[in-house]
Amino acid sequence: MRLSDELGALRAEVARLDAARRRAGDHVKKVLNASKMPIGAAAAALGIPEQHLAQLAQRVPDHQARSCSFCTGQGRLVAGPDVNICWECVPRAKAMGVDGEADPSVPMWVAAADSRCSFCGKLRAQAEFLVKGLGGIICDECVILAEEIMAEDTPEEIS
Ligand SMILES: [Zn+2]
Ligand SMILES: [Zn+2]
Repeated sequence: MRLSDELGALRAEVARLDAARRRAGDHVKKVLNASKMPIGAAAAALGIPEQHLAQLAQRVPDHQARSCSFCTGQGRLVAGPDVNICWECVPRAKAMGVDGEADPSVPMWVAAADSRCSFCGKLRAQAEFLVKGLGGIICDECVILAEEIMAEDTPEEIS
């Protein structure tokens, strides 16, 4: 077989696989929507990663559909176990933690001594700083992790 023939055969095979994948995805999406199951629960029941199922069904994973625990906004999020922080609140939390600078548009405080980071569970005494928002608390190390995730621009979770 000449190379051009092989490439042609390969191209046809890839197109066939893509079409099959699309059909399977449409079906998964239909079944998922009909079941009204959260994608995370469905993935757990199937024993496959949520990200994988979300990709198949062309749906956003649950944690990405949720809102920021600090400003309640629905921008891009870095997700923790039961808490999210949006890309705008990461620098806000850092400014508050490092310099005590509050962004007037989003209420944030220095967290009380007995509070824990909502992302990693660290206590105030174990962290450089702990910043409290409306529905979550974040420590200095988790701010740095969130910055790294944002820099890499990949959907990821802090756990
Ligand atoms: Zn936010
Ligand atoms: Zn933390």
